[in-house]
Amino acid sequence: MRVVTQMEILESREMRHEKQNLMIDRFKMTLVSFTLNIPGEVKASPEYRRVFETGMHEFLKRINRERMQLINKEIVIKDTGYEAYCIIDASALKVKSVTSDLEEEHKLGRIFDFDVINDQYETIRRADIGMKQRVCVICGDNTAVCRRLNRHFASQVEKVFKHSIDEFFNEEQKLLGQ
Ligand SMILES: [Zn+2]
Repeated sequence: MRVVTQMEILESREMRHEKQNLMIDRFKMTLVSFTLNIPGEVKASPEYRRVFETGMHEFLKRINRERMQLINKEIVIKDTGYEAYCIIDASALKVKSVTSDLEEEHKLGRIFDFDVINDQYETIRRADIGMKQRVCVICGDNTAVCRRLNRHFASQVEKVFKHSIDEFFNEEQKLLGQ
């Protein structure tokens, strides 16, 4: 676990874009780029890794349920966070509806960040599939706006997320114990 700098975060964002473009160049299909929304300066920890794996598992389960085919999957693990790149043989709009439902329905969904990009390198927005923007965990406003305006302290958001992570894994533990 280590604190990462703002510079590293910006660099990792750029590298992620490059990686996304390379994947689409190669496969010419829908790409899902999965990361976690982690506030604060520590982006990698055993706990976050478990959250990431849970999100990945749930995503692949839903893709499978929809009879969509996973063509390629790459995982990148860095101090700046965990990243997955999945090429799916299905329309980007359909895939977006799977990932948005997952973000809405799952108990850890607020922490999941699934970007869906089509074979024309365009990021699909929630509005494209008639869904509302994501809602901020603190104030209930549009998350993107809160993030842009830096409206809340990272520690506030972290606290809310920590609570849902603890709750989710405690419940899972109980289920396993039965
Ligand atoms: Zn807010």
